[in-house]
Amino acid sequence: MSTHRFQGRCEGKISSIILSYLKSEIKSAALNIWQDNWDNGETGRSTHDIVPRVSNKPVGWNREEIMFVTGHGPFPSYLHRFNLRTHDNCSCGEKGDPIHYATKCWFTLSCHFQTPTVSLKLQWLKNILTNNLSRTRLRLLMRFICDENNLIVEDNN
Ligand SMILES: [Zn+2]
Repeated sequence: MSTHRFQGRCEGKISSIILSYLKSEIKSAALNIWQDNWDNGETGRSTHDIVPRVSNKPVGWNREEIMFVTGHGPFPSYLHRFNLRTHDNCSCGEKGDPIHYATKCWFTLSCHFQTPTVSLKLQWLKNILTNNLSRTRLRLLMRFICDENNLIVEDNN
């Protein structure tokens, strides 16, 4: 083997080692920045409570569960926050946030969960998300909210 070819191969190997090292450094720096933003941000706090560590791996929640946990769904509270409604009340008169539909609203009576105490709200959410029966009920609740949105989000603009 000529010295030239050997050098070339060797350099190739070294640059691939450097490249993979740099890639992992960049990845971990990016994750750190992301974690920092996630820990110190102002939005998504309810999600932060349940998923405190950032990760590239999906959490394994379906669309309905994500809407419920993040509150980013067809809830009066969400629509109001983005100025799509003038108030955040449900048609029943109470504040229309996810927990209202999961525990109090009479439109969603058949899908109710027990009302959590304030201090145990996080555990309550975790219990729902780790129990298959509860997850099914949550899915039904969210489908109802999506399908019957005109009923619960009666706007009086
Ligand atoms: Zn209601």
